[in-house]
Amino acid sequence: MKETIKNIRRVYQYGKEYRKNLFEMFFAVISSTIINIILPLFTAKQIVYFTSNLWQQLLIVSLVIFVVQAYISFAAMFFTRRNSQHFLRGTIKNLQIRLGKEILRINQKDLDNTSSGIFTQRMINDTEKMASFIGWDGLDHLRHIFANIGALFATFVINRQVFIYYLMVSIILTILYNNKTKRKGEIDVQFRNKTEKVSSLISELIRGVRDIKMLNAQNSFMVKLEENITEQNEKRFEMGKVNRTYVYIIDTLKALFELGLILLLIYLIKNNIITVAIAIALFNYKSGIMTLVMEHISSYMELAKNFNISCDRVFSILDNKTFTKETFGKKHLEDIKGNFEFRNVTFGYNENKKVLDNMNFKINACEMVGFVGKSGVGKTTIFNLLCKMYSVQSGEILLENTNINELDEDTIRGNMTIISQNPYIFNLSIKDNLKLVKEDLTDEEMRKACKIACLDEFIEELPNKYDTIVGEAGVILSGGQKQRLAIARAFLQKTKIILFDEATSSLDNETQSEIQKAISNLKNEYTILIIAHRLSTIINCNKIMVVEDGKISDIGTHEELISRNYTYQALCKTELLK
Ligand code: ADP
Repeated sequence: MKETIKNIRRVYQYGKEYRKNLFEMFFAVISSTIINIILPLFTAKQIVYFTSNLWQQLLIVSLVIFVVQAYISFAAMFFTRRNSQHFLRGTIKNLQIRLGKEILRINQKDLDNTSSGIFTQRMINDTEKMASFIGWDGLDHLRHIFANIGALFATFVINRQVFIYYLMVSIILTILYNNKTKRKGEIDVQFRNKTEKVSSLISELIRGVRDIKMLNAQNSFMVKLEENITEQNEKRFEMGKVNRTYVYIIDTLKALFELGLILLLIYLIKNNIITVAIAIALFNYKSGIMTLVMEHISSYMELAKNFNISCDRVFSILDNKTFTKETFGKKHLEDIKGNFEFRNVTFGYNENKKVLDNMNFKINACEMVGFVGKSGVGKTTIFNLLCKMYSVQSGEILLENTNINELDEDTIRGNMTIISQNPYIFNLSIKDNLKLVKEDLTDEEMRKACKIACLDEFIEELPNKYDTIVGEAGVILSGGQKQRLAIARAFLQKTKIILFDEATSSLDNETQSEIQKAISNLKNEYTILIIAHRLSTIINCNKIMVVEDGKISDIGTHEELISRNYTYQALCKTELLK
């Protein structure tokens, strides 16, 4: 309870700007509930002073009740739901924006160990649960609970016989509801297990569609999927059956109770215990009392439990409890030339396995430097550390003679671009992908960047040219085209340092030479670091660094290294020249 209140307060902070909607919603619900209980009773009590005519009493009380009920549906429809929608939409938006910003600040190391599905869940499902608990979902249950308690209380005040009758009805309906929940609960556990199995199979189907086809395993996979879907549906059907049976029993009982109530009221009127007007007011409470109040209480509790779980999951990200956040220094450097240095850098992705071990090297502005070494030796890691995707365990990385730990995010990330082997291209048009790095991009700049990246001819041949949507993760582009689009992006970003991971996969010669040309177009103006796999790339470099045993074991030009360095010679013979 304490936790729920604490969480409500916190979530409210995100919907504070929509508090008018929230208050209007509460007002409508509370006022309609109170009016529904008090007004019929009040009217029934007062009417006897105005008229002694039985039919007139009947007509006026019925009319008042009709108007009250019409008001309630009006209030519920127009105020509550509409206001709830506004509150919900705004609060979810604020929560999602805040979450998005925080997710972007999470340390890469933590992201490596977390499935992206977790973030999607928190971003979409949890934020909605958080807002809707305070909004209509939670309030609707509370409304029914209050209506029931209020009606029982009012009946208690008016007439004890009817109160006892109502109490008995309430108890019987509660017992029935509990039985239904118990029976449904047992099947529900089995249903959820099956649902989880089906959804994991479906996600495997989507992720592994290519491999399933290649293995020619469509049939066996589909048989497995069908078996699970069938079992899941059987459980769903069983649950539906329990539901139907109980709905039938409860509805029949409700009709019988209503009949019993009418007979009881007639008996009370006949014996002059109550007036007709009071009898109508009492009859009107039946809908409040015959709601399955236990259902609403347990649903509300369940909702509160889920609300707290969702809050925990979302707030743990916002409060840095589960994931650590990236930290940056405060210093901002304006005029980055592209000089940097690794000084005694040691790093491992986990504590007990060093990838870089006391590594030292220096790179001057506008140099083009190739890194070579066996696969897994730590070349990409050097790039990751330079961008501060991970932090060094010991030693320091200096950018323009300043430790990067002292520099702000903009100085580091705003001056470096990584062009990976498979760069991420967003599911937007080519133009919009480029606009991501330069909002005020002109058509002329866009064409120039694509020309430098040797991509212009390809784009001009596309049906929608620069407006062509590239599909999820740039699916319509080949690996080489993605790299060239990333080169155009880097050129527009005007970052001084470009880190280029040359593709190991066999790009066709033409694509390869176009990438080569695109890189050469940037030479001398940018500091370019290349994880090099091809002789043609290496020959273009000002110097080449050999990465071995976590260190730079040798530095030189291709001619120098081929004549003196065994590792380099071996690489040239095998991997490098592939
Ligand atoms: P290279 O680029 O030279 O092929 P990497 O720098 O990618 O090598 O990797 C160096 C070592 O670090 C490898 O043993 C690799 O398995 C490991 N490694 C790379 N990335 C991660 C990561 N995110 N988490 C854990 N280990 C990693």
